[in-house]
Amino acid sequence: MVSDTLLRRPGVESFLRYLENSGKESIDPLFEKTAYRYPVAEEFFEEDAETVLENLAELGIFEKRLMDSAMMCPDCGTLAHVVKPVCPTCSSARLIKGNVIEHMLCGYVDFEQEFYKQGFKCIKCGKELKTLGVDYRRAGVFYKCMSCGRVTAIPVKRFICGHCGRASTEEELQLKPVFSYVVVREKFAVLKGMFLDLTPLISLIESKGFVVESPAKIAGISGVVHEFTLFASRPSAPASASLAIDIVRDADDNKLFEFFTKTFDVKAGASLLLCLGHVDEKAKKLADTFNILMLEFTSADELVEKSKTEIEKILDKLSKRELYEEADYLEDLLKKLDKV
Ligand SMILES: [Zn+2]
Ligand SMILES: [Zn+2]
Ligand SMILES: [Zn+2]
Repeated sequence: MVSDTLLRRPGVESFLRYLENSGKESIDPLFEKTAYRYPVAEEFFEEDAETVLENLAELGIFEKRLMDSAMMCPDCGTLAHVVKPVCPTCSSARLIKGNVIEHMLCGYVDFEQEFYKQGFKCIKCGKELKTLGVDYRRAGVFYKCMSCGRVTAIPVKRFICGHCGRASTEEELQLKPVFSYVVVREKFAVLKGMFLDLTPLISLIESKGFVVESPAKIAGISGVVHEFTLFASRPSAPASASLAIDIVRDADDNKLFEFFTKTFDVKAGASLLLCLGHVDEKAKKLADTFNILMLEFTSADELVEKSKTEIEKILDKLSKRELYEEADYLEDLLKKLDKV
């Protein structure tokens, strides 16, 4: 089901063709400001690029290679965080940072500037600090909490999400793996069969005086817009003179029902479901019940070649129906005129 939706997605076919023709070996991530992007894939899928790459990897078109990783907000997935140090004792962020000196004679410890304020004398014992390494030493860089006075070398870190504002501890952050998508060329042959060249069918439908859209987006009575592989209609004719066609892989009752719902909503005059691969019994029964013509094929070439005859029959029927309706209407009109 995922692959059906994915392969029907606009852009996928041209993206795969691009991969094949360009000889590109992989789609690589690019770090930009606060996110990883895939510029090549974005040209085809915009902001959905990563999702489509993931789906194609599931189909085996790509092999994923771990390239990088980054801390990610567990709530919104953003990588951009502000790191905020807080006091391990009272959690206050009112911290100052500086070089700390220890007066070795009495053991007093404080920031360097505090000793300078006293003329480089010890605040506790009042003695002058003379020789580094003898009577005093540099203890390193420390943080002092201005709320509770705690001095620490390692404050607790809080990561504030730059997008949703969530404050996370380091443990709570998720590690986002960043992949390169390496093209698996051997898979292309298999995939080609999944994309059909519908030109012969389109030409046939047009030759019968119908307008054809492929893929077609048709708004139903419900207001929902439905997508069909092919939709044939006549500009001035009612919806009942139209033909809706979908192509599916391995049809089951769910796919059949989904197709019926769409054709019912757009009031298509005829519905044709072309199936590649296996069709289960339930689907066949449903097709009969819903008055859907369902045809089974084993290959893409067979599908395009053999469905032509059926499509032609349906279109002829639809054209006749249209003529009859017109005739009925004229007859009605004449009767009414008669009475006048
Ligand atoms: Zn001292
Ligand atoms: Zn504190
Ligand atoms: Zn967030």
